[in-house]
Amino acid sequence: MKIYEEGNITWLEMSLPNNFHVHWREIEQLMYTLQYSAMQFGYTMGMPNLIEPLINMLRANSYYDAVQSVKQKQKLAEHSKFYVTGYLTDNTTVEDVKQAKKSGVILAMKLYPSGATTNSHFGVLDVSKMWPIFAYMEEHDIPLSVHGEVIIPRVSLYDRERVFVEIILTEIHRAFPQLRIILEHVSTKEGAQFVQSAPVNIVGTVTAQHMLCNCNDVYMYPSKNCYPVINSPADQDAVIIFATSGESSCFLGTDSAPHADNIKFCDGGSGGCFTEPYAIPLYLKAFEYAGALDERFEAFASFNGADFYGLPRNIAKLRLAKKSQVIAREIMIAKDLYATPFMAGEILDWSIDSII
Ligand SMILES: [Zn+2]
Repeated sequence: MKIYEEGNITWLEMSLPNNFHVHWREIEQLMYTLQYSAMQFGYTMGMPNLIEPLINMLRANSYYDAVQSVKQKQKLAEHSKFYVTGYLTDNTTVEDVKQAKKSGVILAMKLYPSGATTNSHFGVLDVSKMWPIFAYMEEHDIPLSVHGEVIIPRVSLYDRERVFVEIILTEIHRAFPQLRIILEHVSTKEGAQFVQSAPVNIVGTVTAQHMLCNCNDVYMYPSKNCYPVINSPADQDAVIIFATSGESSCFLGTDSAPHADNIKFCDGGSGGCFTEPYAIPLYLKAFEYAGALDERFEAFASFNGADFYGLPRNIAKLRLAKKSQVIAREIMIAKDLYATPFMAGEILDWSIDSII
């Protein structure tokens, strides 16, 4: 990664980053949402919690085909490579996981505790029933991607990840010590500590919103609501320290989720921050604020995730200019549907220039 001056402009050039956690959402939205991943990422991994979740290879393949067809139609950059995630349910069989591994389109299997987030009601009710699946995944080196929250009525929103880590994640790791696990969107001190003190097969992704905000911001701006919720200032500090540690156990996953305003800004609305159109400039803001805009950012954004998934690092580079831009107030995410992006109306210091 290098930062240099040329023609009175400050430029940043880095190995093309990857995003190992994004929601492009339904097939009819791909024409609107996929381009934002392609304009700044090499590998991008789409999540499976659609209205018709990717619970088997038939669905995963048809979604993957739709992604490829949009890539072709829109002539999205050649370097962009898209993958999807398989969705574990109470009915997933070892055969399903075997097929997923063989497919080449699925990089990991995702565990959603039932009810934790958008379209997760198909998810797993009783994690202990997954033991034969986890045993197969451990033996065949298939990574387990985890949405780490418990849904228990007497557990506060702010403690869901802590309790999940303490009870469920610890138990899975103890029972399957070689299983490769990604704790997605680490949002608490306990989540970060778990990953940092675990062996190398345990990693975590970090979003820009969990670095840039804490619960005080969410209270004022409902567009910042997501799951796991953006937590206390102390948790925000722990997430920043984790992401900027330079360790190979943390990497970039935006968890960008384009929900239309009418289903987000209402009672019982969907959670999720729409960050993808500004993803790298948002992370740059967070890393710059933490004084970590150096090789630690490139490791986090471009190397660690590719290494974990066994993918070659990108040869292409992303170039950004230190030119300020204002985040749009709304962005079209499907025909006649708009979403308010995360930090709408606020200023970012960096802008994407090109892929070289
Ligand atoms: Zn997600």
